Amino acid sequence: MINWKEIDTILLDMDGTLLDLHFDNFFWQELIPEKYAEKHHLSLEQSQKYLNPLFKNHEGTLNWYCLDFWSQKLDLNILALKNEIADKIAIRPFTCTFLEKLNQSQRRIVLVTNAHHHSLNLKMEKTQLLRFFHQVISSHSIGFPKENKQFWNKLQRIETFHNEHTLLIDDSINVLDAAKNHGIKYLLAIKSPDSQKAVRTIANYDSIADLGELIPVC
Ligand SMILES: [Mg+2]
Repeated sequence: MINWKEIDTILLDMDGTLLDLHFDNFFWQELIPEKYAEKHHLSLEQSQKYLNPLFKNHEGTLNWYCLDFWSQKLDLNILALKNEIADKIAIRPFTCTFLEKLNQSQRRIVLVTNAHHHSLNLKMEKTQLLRFFHQVISSHSIGFPKENKQFWNKLQRIETFHNEHTLLIDDSINVLDAAKNHGIKYLLAIKSPDSQKAVRTIANYDSIADLGELIPVC
C-alpha cells in the first residue's frame, strides 16, 4: 500500500486520470469514423473497417497520440474536430479537491501525459487545471511515449525525482508496467477512466475509482 509519508513527488496522468476518458473514446471511436466516412464517401461500416486495424497498428506509439500524424494520415483536421466537441471535455469527480489538497502539501506535482501539445493546451484551457502543477510534461517533447522505458529514463534527467519517493497515478496498465520496470515504487491505477463504460478489475496494481478516495489520506 501507499506510504504517503515517503512520497515527495506525484506524477499524474491526464486523460482517464484527471479528465474523463469519454471525450477521447467518443472522439476516436465515434466522431472520427463518422467524419472519415463523410470525407471519403464511405459507409460508417467501411470507415470503421479501415480505421480499426490502422488504430491498432499505432497503439502505444508516439504517432498514436500525435494530432499532426492523424491529420495527415486521415486527411482530416483533427484539432479543428477536437475544438468542435470541446464542450465534452470533463474533469473527473474529485480531481480539483484532490489537487487542492496536494498543493497544500510540500510535494512536487507533475503532469505527465501522452497528449499532443495541441490537445494538452485545449484541455488545460477548458479545465483550468494548469495552476495545480509545478511542471507539465508531454511525451512529445521527450520523444517517446510513456509506454516506452526511454520515456522514464529521459524524464528522470529532466525532473530528477527519486523512484522510491514517487507515486504515479495512471489509467494505462502498459504505462504503469513501464514505470514499474523503471523502478518507480508507488503506482496506482484508475478503475473507471471512462464514465460511460463499466468499472474495470485491475489485477496487478492497487486501484481507485476516483481521486476522491485519496483525499483523506494524502
Ligand atoms: Mg491516461
